[in-house]
Amino acid sequence: MSDVRLIVGIDLGTTNSECFVYSTTTNTPELQYLNGSLTGMYPSVILYDQKAEKFIVGQEAKDNEGAKVWREMKIDLGKGEAKKVTIGSQTLNPITFSTIILKYIYEGLQQAYNDPIIETLVITVPADFKDAERQATLKAAHDAGFEPENEIRLINEPTAAALAYGEKLNEAQTLVSFDLGGGTFDVTFLEYDNIDGVRFYQALKTDGLILGGRDFDRKIIDYLYEGYLATDEGKAYKKDVPFKESFYLSAKNLAERIKINLSKTESVSGTDIIKVNGNRIILEYNITRDQFEKMIEGLVDRTIQMTKKVIGEEEVGCILMVGGSTRVPLIKKKIEEAFPNIPRVDDNPDLIVALGACIQASIISNKKESFLNEILTNPLGISVSGDFVKHMLYEGTPIPYEIEERFYRADDGDEVSAFLVQGKDILLESRNNQILGEIVLTGMKNTEAGAPVDIKIRVDNSGMVEVTASEVEEDGAKFFNNFKIGSTMRVQAQNYADLRAQAFEKYKDKTLQDLTAIADEIIEKIEAREEKVPSDHWLLEKLQSGRYGNLEEFKVIVYRADLKTDLY
Ligand code: ADP
Ligand code: MG
Repeated sequence: MSDVRLIVGIDLGTTNSECFVYSTTTNTPELQYLNGSLTGMYPSVILYDQKAEKFIVGQEAKDNEGAKVWREMKIDLGKGEAKKVTIGSQTLNPITFSTIILKYIYEGLQQAYNDPIIETLVITVPADFKDAERQATLKAAHDAGFEPENEIRLINEPTAAALAYGEKLNEAQTLVSFDLGGGTFDVTFLEYDNIDGVRFYQALKTDGLILGGRDFDRKIIDYLYEGYLATDEGKAYKKDVPFKESFYLSAKNLAERIKINLSKTESVSGTDIIKVNGNRIILEYNITRDQFEKMIEGLVDRTIQMTKKVIGEEEVGCILMVGGSTRVPLIKKKIEEAFPNIPRVDDNPDLIVALGACIQASIISNKKESFLNEILTNPLGISVSGDFVKHMLYEGTPIPYEIEERFYRADDGDEVSAFLVQGKDILLESRNNQILGEIVLTGMKNTEAGAPVDIKIRVDNSGMVEVTASEVEEDGAKFFNNFKIGSTMRVQAQNYADLRAQAFEKYKDKTLQDLTAIADEIIEKIEAREEKVPSDHWLLEKLQSGRYGNLEEFKVIVYRADLKTDLY
């Protein structure tokens, strides 16, 4: 082991990952060119080499044109195992995927610095990442081998960008981070303050879309495909589905290169060979920037609309351009048109987040007073009777934070349970809500309805949630039951997934019409009840409106209603 000490910041991106390091030998954060990388960016792409029996990561994997690779799995990070993907003999889920990418960086650092001591590691995550996604990111970092002396801290990507650009900002002001990456768009409204040279950042609002550079690439592939089909050779081909699929896979890197060139020049033309289903195909193309801009204009407009919505009536001091796709000239043009009076900063938009992570890591390591104020981006609450959610922590709450509230039991019995819910809706069942776990208190002393129960929610620096629930005795003494939202809570949360699975099983072959008929019967039963409880009203409303919505959700709601009315 060498005695080099490192402070590390990593942007674990959907498309590319980057790493900045402060070492004891340098005094500024340095972009890391690890494992032979020429750009300091490591495509978040993985390939399995059957012969060598090992995973190939980064640029080398991406360069394997036409091969099936694992990519963009970060989008499903919170869904874990359910989103596993098998290619050949290997299966990766979003966590093992992230582990392999992080391990690639970890091993690169080991090699470059000869087994250094890592003091602190900061990894960035999208501001709207929920608990499950944050847990998954931490797990991946541990599994990759990172064991820093201090801690592994997660910070939000826009906050990291603000921190890095912050060196350039003097006045107190509001900021908007406009982050257009490879597969995702995130826009965040932040507040920035400078008090006696100490900077404070606080993210106030955030929203996003699954939209990014890969959608631009796809437009170019569409164009190449149409162009090829119009050639004599193209006309002769049998255009079945596998052909198209193989074409789209093989043309991906070419399309991206064309797009990136169009950021620099007004037109790109050339001849390239791609392999489609084992056959070599010659592609000739000539695309102007103007044509490309027409292809993507609708997509770009969606990002501008969302930015307008997030800004609302607020005054904005500066727009931070983040993400590789903001290098597309049309994006800058559209932003200038939509927000003519707001200045922009846009140095190295694809590296800025990793740089901010490294700056934050150095703040932690030097134990400077932290001036980074993170906020909770998704409200947290507890399910209460009637299948409503009582929110306890709202979005925008600065973290770390702790809150305790008193609840009163609805029923008699020696057991009480409630769901811990993350999401904005007050209806438990809303698809916008995610159940993090179930809080179960067993063997209660006070077994009567109306007895008080105190619930405490704590969110730490990284946005991780911990819940404590306790029974309150007459003299005010409390009994504690501790729950860390981890494996045990997840198992409990499974109940909810089971419920959905049961619903799908029971109504497997049911059409919307069948379900509507069942719903009508249940509605009749509910309406016949003399005294209605809040959940009856809610169920009625859901049953009425659900039939116009998504069939899957409708199945779940009918199933729940059916279970309930069975008890009448
Ligand atoms: P993520 O945050 O999703 O990991 P990045 O911020 O690294 O992604 O952005 C990657 C995307 O940026 C890719 O779609 C890439 O093609 C695109 N990109 C990078 N450079 C340019 C450029 N000069 N012009 C247009 N798009 C670019
Ligand atoms: Mg990014």
